[in-house]
Amino acid sequence: MKFGTIRDLPVEHADCGWYNLLPAPPPARPVAGPEAADWAIVGAGVCGLAAARRLAEHYPDQRIVLLEATRVGLGASGRNSGFVLNYSPHGVGSGADHDFERRYAEVLSAGVDELRRLVAEHQIQCDWSEWGRLYVSAGSDGDHHLADVRAAHQRVGTEIRDYDATALRRLTGTSFYHSGLWAAGNAIVQPAAVVRGLAATLPVNVDLREETLVTAIHRRGDGFQLVCDAGEVTADRLILAGGCYTGGLGGFRGRTLAVATYGSMTRALSAEEKAAHFPETDELGLLPASHNGSTVRLTRDHRLLIRNSFDYSRPGRRPPAVPGEAIDNHRKALRARWPALGDLEFEHNWGGSIAYTRNQGALFGRLAEGAWGVVAGDAGPVARGSITGKLLADYIAGAESALLSTQLSLAKAAWLPPDPILGFAVNRELKSIRRAGAVEL
Ligand SMILES: Cc1cc2nc3c(=O)[nH]c(=O)nc-3n(C[C@H](O)[C@H](O)[C@H](O)COP(=O)(O)OP(=O)(O)OC[C@H]3O[C@@H](n4cnc5c(N)ncnc54)[C@H](O)[C@@H]3O)c2cc1C
Repeated sequence: MKFGTIRDLPVEHADCGWYNLLPAPPPARPVAGPEAADWAIVGAGVCGLAAARRLAEHYPDQRIVLLEATRVGLGASGRNSGFVLNYSPHGVGSGADHDFERRYAEVLSAGVDELRRLVAEHQIQCDWSEWGRLYVSAGSDGDHHLADVRAAHQRVGTEIRDYDATALRRLTGTSFYHSGLWAAGNAIVQPAAVVRGLAATLPVNVDLREETLVTAIHRRGDGFQLVCDAGEVTADRLILAGGCYTGGLGGFRGRTLAVATYGSMTRALSAEEKAAHFPETDELGLLPASHNGSTVRLTRDHRLLIRNSFDYSRPGRRPPAVPGEAIDNHRKALRARWPALGDLEFEHNWGGSIAYTRNQGALFGRLAEGAWGVVAGDAGPVARGSITGKLLADYIAGAESALLSTQLSLAKAAWLPPDPILGFAVNRELKSIRRAGAVEL
């Protein structure tokens, strides 16, 4: 782990449709002076929240400070498309290592179960829905990936159902798609409501301090000093759960890269628009089979969410606003699917970054004496982080389980070359994805 000043600070786009649709939260309680704790956790996304909850159960008499730069729900965990995926074979391809795939799927399934349990136990109002996911294809690139997705789901034993063009048209109200595959055991949610609900129900010995940016981390004796924008925390032990900013915090350096993607959300459809275009369903969760396709949600309050477009998100140089080209792509995707709704106004546009590794590897474990880290990236990160955060706390506390053994058996994230080589390689890959799936946008 590398200590010192943090150069890659979170700069999420201020807007986030999911967050803005929730009531205003109670005022934040930033760190505003010197404080001491047994544990400091940096980052209150799915990983940090899960680690804090479990750590508090293992150490009920110890004080855990959970530090978050913005508000819970404004980070990636609250600004995603809301799919809680039990297995996401994207990126695995036909050359998959089947044993790795089975173990990866086991961890993700446990993540869905864990989140489902917490939502039910704490009655978190987050529009949790077992509607699941429907992979959809609109061209040859999508068909190619759909075949891989089908084979991978069959290997790990997911219940699946094929959709032909007619069934898709009936369900989705568009003839844009020509084949699809529904997979069981997944959920769709209002993501900002999920994380806010998780934060509101943390055990009493977790002290959540939002609007607290950690700007430097230093070793102090056996412990750590976390310098914040308006105070500081000294802690005996430390967990880094800063999502794609964790490398900047000093953990898993050179093991992750970040890719930005963007979403736009329309106003709510009128009752007439809803009845005319989506007579058969109250919600939708469509995932593109093509990597270049658009994720689409019809939300419970009948808004359409479109997510597409990718950019390499270089540490310290992330774009401060959603690029106009991404918003144009959202408009284009809406028009291509529902021409009669194509001019619906977007009420929200936002973006965020996802951490990727070279090998879908684990970002999990000990970073230095008294310091650990966990990041959810690659495929199905919301489910993944919901369980790996918990497992990290078990690992620290020495609580063994078969699932922890599975997590520990996954390969660690492989080394990546530095910029500009990394940026060059990622941009080249993104370009080929855009070209291959141009018609699927
Ligand atoms: C548009 C979009 C759509 C997506 N769709 C999906 C989807 O449908 N399903 C899915 O599974 N995944 C999806 N993802 C990815 C997923 O949201 C993330 O990979 C996952 O939430 C990451 O969780 P995390 O806990 O590792 O990190 P984060 O949620 O990023 O949490 C880390 C937190 O650390 C804080 N932090 C970082 N640095 C500091 C610092 N110096 N001081 C204080 N705090 C700091 C950040 O503010 C942040 O809140 C999507 C992502 C985006 C952007």
